[in-house]
Amino acid sequence: GVREWPSSDVLAHRAETTPDATAVVDADHDCSWTFAGFDRRVDVVAASLASHVEAGDRLGLLLDTGIAFAEVYFAATRLGVELVPLHVRETAPELASKAERTDLDALVCEEATEATALEIVDGPVLSVADPDRAEVHELEVPALERPVEPAAGEVPANPADPDATHLVLFTSGTSGEPKAVRLTVGNLLASATASAFRLGVDHADRWLCCLPMYHMGGLAPLVRSTLYGTTVVIQRTFDPDATARVFEAYDVTGVSLVPTMCKRLLESGWQPPESLRFVLLGGAPASAELLERCHAADVPVYPTYGMTETASQIATATPAEALEYGGTVGQPLVVTDVTVVDDDGGPVETGEIGEFVVSGPTVSPGYLDPDHTDAAFTEHGLRTGDVGRRDDDGRLWVLNRRSDRILTGGENVDPGEVVDVLRSHPDVEDAAVVGLPDEEWGERVGSLLVPMRGRSRGDRAGVVGDLSMDAHLDFGSVLEHCDDRLAGFKRPKTIAVIDALPRTASGTVDRQAVRDRLLEDGVDVTARR
Ligand code: ATP
Ligand code: MG
Repeated sequence: GVREWPSSDVLAHRAETTPDATAVVDADHDCSWTFAGFDRRVDVVAASLASHVEAGDRLGLLLDTGIAFAEVYFAATRLGVELVPLHVRETAPELASKAERTDLDALVCEEATEATALEIVDGPVLSVADPDRAEVHELEVPALERPVEPAAGEVPANPADPDATHLVLFTSGTSGEPKAVRLTVGNLLASATASAFRLGVDHADRWLCCLPMYHMGGLAPLVRSTLYGTTVVIQRTFDPDATARVFEAYDVTGVSLVPTMCKRLLESGWQPPESLRFVLLGGAPASAELLERCHAADVPVYPTYGMTETASQIATATPAEALEYGGTVGQPLVVTDVTVVDDDGGPVETGEIGEFVVSGPTVSPGYLDPDHTDAAFTEHGLRTGDVGRRDDDGRLWVLNRRSDRILTGGENVDPGEVVDVLRSHPDVEDAAVVGLPDEEWGERVGSLLVPMRGRSRGDRAGVVGDLSMDAHLDFGSVLEHCDDRLAGFKRPKTIAVIDALPRTASGTVDRQAVRDRLLEDGVDVTARR
């Protein structure tokens, strides 16, 4: 009969059409499976899962990045089971709260997560660990069958309706408690298709996945490579040296990285292999310095803006655009619409700063919590909470989050605008701008500065007396630079210097840590004004 689009079981399709192509490489164990072989393994896992859960059930996943994650992902898809990947490095209380909020029917774990798994749910806990291990039975955790030699099993295949909830993924929790996002197969496949229009697809593609698969950025390469019929190379843990070896060993052609990973790779002296055609760089802003280093090292970098709620990419810049239009994350993907709105929700003029509102087939149908959905979905689509601007050609610049906005003496300050000005000073490598409590104005602008490496204050030292005492940076020159470019209320009033900005696990600037640091050793420069 006529195949439905989107079909949720892209792996079954590949097993029919390109059975002998390499589907998955497990870089940690140096082994690989063809689509036919991987499909049979998934069938075995699905048959085993089917005795514990059925279509419509919600299955938690407490697995680190790896082949077992990939198998259970496709097995659950095949059964029409909703998957809830959890963050393996979170504490038991954090996980227990997520398990409760998502009302799990069962949970899959591995050896390293068994004890936690038993602690956080009452329902059945299943392990992908070696079934012969004694502990499995002591803990009364039934083992899921995952044969070394694949064999076909009986699977009551019931792939999900493309518009039904397929995944529940948690956001990173940068602006509060992590939110549980519903995503459909349709969202994931629309994202995979649109991404291909920006990055292109080559039959020889091998996409390295070294980001956690329980985040959208780590899961996307698995789903996409399967849809495209190309290879995903899975490495459990990113490590500059080990990852550099994986690039070489498997002729990797593409990789998804957050800026801190890219920086660490370059600092370790990594040379991109001949085969590499794209580095999708997203999740947090990439500094101008990092992009320059990528360019100097011939790294084909595609700066990307995305979020969990949009099944990853919203906009992606090409390497040429990244070079020509400093700081841009490029145009939205072909199926994605972005509207820039003001505080009242109305569209702003091109070039004006406002909040991004996003719509299109990659956008989640809503959060698990209807209150979150009501607060975020508007007539133009999903409010991203991100503030930025757009140029005449539709390229986007992300400045900061709405919740990071500073209110000083009744005026709104967008920290991103101040960061842009600070970063444009030749001696400033990076900067973070936050609001600090102020008796007179409510809040005052504070800035933590990272001096450009290899530069010193040199002859200009002491321009503002004590202020530049400990800093390898001429504060006076930086303040003058701001005076020329920013209205008085936007200029930093408290500043301090640091070697590197404090960051969260997902690479975003840890704003609370920035605030604490400024409150502790910030220098008050108001007197100069
Ligand atoms: P929460 O929604 O719980 O606060 P989070 O938004 O950090 O957490 P994610 O969905 O993992 O959770 O991250 C998406 C966010 O990351 C975006 O909304 C944006 O703020 C930020 N981001 C992603 N890519 C970029 C980028 N290229 N430049 C600037 N910010 C980015
Ligand atoms: Mg968010």
